[in-house]
Amino acid sequence: MVIEENKPLAPFTTLGIGGPARWFVEAADEDDVVEATQLAHQRGLPLFVLGGGSNLLVSDAGFDGLVLRVGLLGIDADLDGPPGDALGEWVYRAAAGEDWDALVERAVRDNCAGIECLAGIPGTVGGTPVQNVGAYGQEVASVIEQVRVFDLNEAVFHEFSAGECGFDYRRSRFNSTDRGRYIVTRVDYRLTLGGAPTLRYADLQREIAQDAANDTEPSLAQVAAAVRRVRQAKGMLLVDGDPDCRSAGSFFKNPVVSRTQVRTIARGNGKEPPSFPAGSGEENVGRVKVPAAWLIEQAGFAKGYALRRAGVSSRHTLALINRGGATAEEILALAGQIRSAVEARFGVQLEMEPVMVGF
Ligand SMILES: Cc1cc2nc3c(=O)[nH]c(=O)nc-3n(C[C@H](O)[C@H](O)[C@H](O)COP(=O)(O)OP(=O)(O)OC[C@H]3O[C@@H](n4cnc5c(N)ncnc54)[C@H](O)[C@@H]3O)c2cc1C
Repeated sequence: MVIEENKPLAPFTTLGIGGPARWFVEAADEDDVVEATQLAHQRGLPLFVLGGGSNLLVSDAGFDGLVLRVGLLGIDADLDGPPGDALGEWVYRAAAGEDWDALVERAVRDNCAGIECLAGIPGTVGGTPVQNVGAYGQEVASVIEQVRVFDLNEAVFHEFSAGECGFDYRRSRFNSTDRGRYIVTRVDYRLTLGGAPTLRYADLQREIAQDAANDTEPSLAQVAAAVRRVRQAKGMLLVDGDPDCRSAGSFFKNPVVSRTQVRTIARGNGKEPPSFPAGSGEENVGRVKVPAAWLIEQAGFAKGYALRRAGVSSRHTLALINRGGATAEEILALAGQIRSAVEARFGVQLEMEPVMVGF
């Protein structure tokens, strides 16, 4: 295991922003994970676990501690069910450092359903349970069977079932109650061989309908390809040279609000906001999710709005972008402007989605 000093972090993030890590190691296997965490412990260094850097805002000063990049690789796929069963279930055991989108591609190629709508999301396998990655009607929570972790408190490996992960909208125990306690080293996903694709979202349905060849039930590959096209149109697919994808994806979560707040928003704007069911949890009874993008636009921020070198994507109001040479401070200044305007107009506090590192 190589220990590097003063390693610039910007190249490890999709925003391309951030100062150096005081210490940096890349773990290739679970022994490296243990060794690196022991090193941090012995030297009293704060530890940050880095995946694909697609959901981060790293401070301009960098991180004054040890950054452990999870580079564990390998995928095993086993049929779990009676051989010859057309709807058998396949369990993919994927090491945490594997590229998520490559896993989706492989599952789709194997004709396994369950994650086809999550095509084109950047980052690693290990990052997916952390914020319960989701898009276009699917979430990893519904296919995760088990998450293998290293527990920093007890210094042991442990396996959690999906039920033990505390999944909710963009939430799990790993980014809430147990933030910073566990390092994910492997995730097992249970997918359905020969299963039908999920086609719940209107813009995805429209995209599929435009495909003239689709007068029959679309295949998993067609749905995954349609998801990528819809994502690219919104600048939500990493494409070399596309300035709109120099982002951390959605910068704000869609707020969950009470019916009373919906009425307040409507009064502040003269029309009802669009809304969606907030989720099945008890805490969501009587509450709805309102698109943050709608609130931001109604508060006066159009696509392409710029504040110095930070900006709002020209194709998606929810993505803040680095227009070239932006600093973390500039991104935060823009985020602050947007949050204040939304709160002043609608009384809703927008929560930032990316993880803040080194602030
Ligand atoms: C263009 C674009 C589009 C996106 N679209 C979506 C979308 O549709 N839906 C969605 O949900 N997200 C989306 N995202 C956000 C992001 O891709 C996901 O959150 C992704 O899962 C983050 O994984 P990562 O490996 O890059 O994690 P990082 O950004 O490196 O880290 C994020 C957090 O996870 C922790 N972490 C990472 N790996 C591990 C590990 N092995 N063990 C413990 N903790 C770990 C980090 O410590 C940090 O707290 C998008 C981002 C971009 C840039």
